[in-house]
Amino acid sequence: MVASLREGIPRLHGGEEINTGALDQRGRTLGVLRLSLTARCNLACRYCRPENRDPPTLLTHQQRLKLIGAAARLGCRRLRLTGGEPLLAPGLAPLVQAVKALDLVEDVAVTTNGVLLDRSVAQGLQQAGLDRITISLDGADPQAVLRMGGGHSFAPVLSAIGHAQAVGLPVKINMVAMAHGNGDQVIPMARLCRRLGVELRLIEYMDVGNRNGWRPEQVITAAAMTAEIGRHWPLTPVGRQHGSTARRWRYQDGGGFVSTIASISEPFCGDCNRLRVTADGMAYTCLFASRGTDLKPALDPRQPDAVLMHQLRSLWRRRQDRYSEERALQAQQTSPAPRPIPAEMAYMGG
Ligand code: SAM
Ligand code: SF4
Repeated sequence: MVASLREGIPRLHGGEEINTGALDQRGRTLGVLRLSLTARCNLACRYCRPENRDPPTLLTHQQRLKLIGAAARLGCRRLRLTGGEPLLAPGLAPLVQAVKALDLVEDVAVTTNGVLLDRSVAQGLQQAGLDRITISLDGADPQAVLRMGGGHSFAPVLSAIGHAQAVGLPVKINMVAMAHGNGDQVIPMARLCRRLGVELRLIEYMDVGNRNGWRPEQVITAAAMTAEIGRHWPLTPVGRQHGSTARRWRYQDGGGFVSTIASISEPFCGDCNRLRVTADGMAYTCLFASRGTDLKPALDPRQPDAVLMHQLRSLWRRRQDRYSEERALQAQQTSPAPRPIPAEMAYMGG
């Protein structure tokens, strides 16, 4: 089974050299592949606004494995499967199972809105070898979630968190905070996550895509959120690991951790190690990019692995993007340069 899966997948171990040394123009290494499985979604979050249709041609299972294998050989150690909503995509659990069976990367995670994560789906993912799961939830009560575009998902998502915990999957919760949206939910969500024993990741509302009508005054900064939480439960800063998006804080009363993702107020482009690939095989080296690189020709099963390896390596070596840092600089200027229309979040995968 494993041998037949291997066909068309660059080998991690064995005769060929493993390349871990691809550096981009700013000296950054490739560490994480974020692969979107679909651009479709069953929710319509205010900050994301998915177009809710898939591109005409999606990567096949074998193409996804070929891509993950090639990224692994360029130094990528972690895989995050995302979307759109990845639980809408056929083949999620078989993909996790194959990646684990082939030992392509060290860590496989999924980001989901949780609506479809019932007990058997959670069990299937755990048995496939999934290492951890991030579930998005924007409020601690049904009305707040409804207000944020999450429909009537509060109760199912709460159950989903329970199912993931029950099957032993480590869980984190993503909450995007928007002024005039769910700014009043920071404390209730911190309380809920402390009670559930899961880490809350508070994400600053980002200017990804064009459909959400982002404005700077809608951002609640990480500093404001941690100050508010710290007034209820004193916090000790733990810091941000190299290459990580999250800055972590420990509750001094032993209530676990909370973290912030502060792409707007504290950009972390300097050690960004993420390659993003859409469900139809477009590669982006920055979440805020407007143009991607089409990997589909190289992902054609008839193409030797070396073609894909070469394309990925040269794409990474050319990379010099640092959009979040530039945004911060532009904000200080009186007439900032116009920005090309960026790709949408649900297509790019977050
Ligand atoms: N549908 C899944 C979900 O919502 O978890 C996975 C895809 S979603 C694009 C990945 C993550 O991006 C989610 O945690 C979501 O909250 C976050 N996100 C989407 N749009 C955002 C924005 N404009 N700013 C910050 N985070 C955003
Ligand atoms: Fe769907 Fe996730 Fe976008 Fe919300 S953030 S609309 S759940 S893709």
